[in-house]
Amino acid sequence: MHSLFAGIQMVDLLRQHARIREELLAAFCEVLEGGQYIRGPHCERFEAHLADYLGCRYVIGCGNGTDALQIALMAIGLEPGDEVITSPFTFVATAEVIALLGGRPVYVDIDPRTFNINPDGIAARITSRTRAIIPVHLYGQPADMDAILELADRHGLYVIEDAAQAIGAEWRGRKAGTVGHIGCISFFPSKNLGALGDGGAIVTDDPQLAERIRMIANHGARRKYYHELIGVNSRLDTLQAALLDVKLRYLETYIAARQQAADRYDRLLENVPQVVRPYRERRARHVFHQYTIRVPKRDQLQAFLRERGIPTMVYYPYPLHVQPAYRRYGYAEGDFPEAERAAEEVLSLPMHTELDEAQQVYIVEAIRSFFAA
Ligand SMILES: *Cc1c(COP(=O)(O)O)cnc(C)c1O
Repeated sequence: MHSLFAGIQMVDLLRQHARIREELLAAFCEVLEGGQYIRGPHCERFEAHLADYLGCRYVIGCGNGTDALQIALMAIGLEPGDEVITSPFTFVATAEVIALLGGRPVYVDIDPRTFNINPDGIAARITSRTRAIIPVHLYGQPADMDAILELADRHGLYVIEDAAQAIGAEWRGRKAGTVGHIGCISFFPSKNLGALGDGGAIVTDDPQLAERIRMIANHGARRKYYHELIGVNSRLDTLQAALLDVKLRYLETYIAARQQAADRYDRLLENVPQVVRPYRERRARHVFHQYTIRVPKRDQLQAFLRERGIPTMVYYPYPLHVQPAYRRYGYAEGDFPEAERAAEEVLSLPMHTELDEAQQVYIVEAIRSFFAA
């Protein structure tokens, strides 16, 4: 049993890419032989195809998902001292870019069912310095965008979606990233649409924001060597754009495979009472970037599974308000109890497009035997 499943991986990109090897190689050769390695038609084509897929007007490629968030904040004109409301239970990039621009991350605790920002806590944190809300669609399920947009409208705030984990997810039939004013996407290899390296995109329907975003990502220039804004150098490589254009055609297949795997986990875990399975918000389409359970004795379970050749991950072990670098914002342990409890209880199980039922049965039987002992 043990060695048979030694091949279980958290993410299995080798097998995913092996299936489309010829198409990826063809794209690679096209770029190699095309001779244009920055920008060019491959980038334009991928941006257009992604805009089509998402149903939005503008897609601007950039270097990675972190840059996407930073450029979005620069595009709305975030200034030092401005406040941005977000979740403390996210990857550091979300708060990092606020801090880098001199802004102040203002956290609101999460809804313990979805792990996303709890909109009920937002109104009390809005001040005259608040400029934006960044909901993070954690694990691939959108935050409550109805409530967030309603608050943002009422207070004149921008909503920038951190959709790094949620490409293809939907809120009431609209694609994640296109519901707020600006959406930020990551093509980090393990994300649901992964490049063979770094990549990111910023999406919007607003022509003025789109123009500013495009300029900021290109040193603040609309035309060469004439700089109207202070910008950055953040580009989606031509090669990555060409490879992503191939993989975009398979994104719906990939999402279906993840959802199928999630359904199987749900079914298999039904009779393991210690495990809280992922909550599914009925207004959302969950794309299961992660399949994340809540369990007692999480660290012991993780070690037990590791011994049986089953990798798992904790996203994330420390909420942002207790991270050493972010103490300066004056938060303390105990301020966001739901985020802190989630950090102690969450465990993400292997989830990828190549996961099969036999592997999942093995994983769930191991979890069951841990709690039976
Ligand atoms: C991956 C991720 C990012 C950053 O994306 P990179 O492409 O790695 O820079 C930002 N936010 C969240 C929630 C992420 O998961």
